[in-house]
Amino acid sequence: MVSRIRCPFCGYEGDPKDFDYMYESVLYMADHEVFHEERERPILVICPRCRKGFFLEDPYSRIKEKNQA
Ligand SMILES: [Zn+2]
Repeated sequence: MVSRIRCPFCGYEGDPKDFDYMYESVLYMADHEVFHEERERPILVICPRCRKGFFLEDPYSRIKEKNQA
């Protein structure tokens, strides 16, 4: 489990519960047809401090980052 999330924009770091989350619902309108994107979209995380949205890194890069720190 991810214990801390860090905002890449302002550097705010906090518990996952401090952040807002947005599940991007993707609808592409092309003429009169609607295309649903089939692949899974990542969750957009909204920073409570700067209100910017970013995507969580995949768990493996997070582990690597932890080891480097
Ligand atoms: Zn931020």
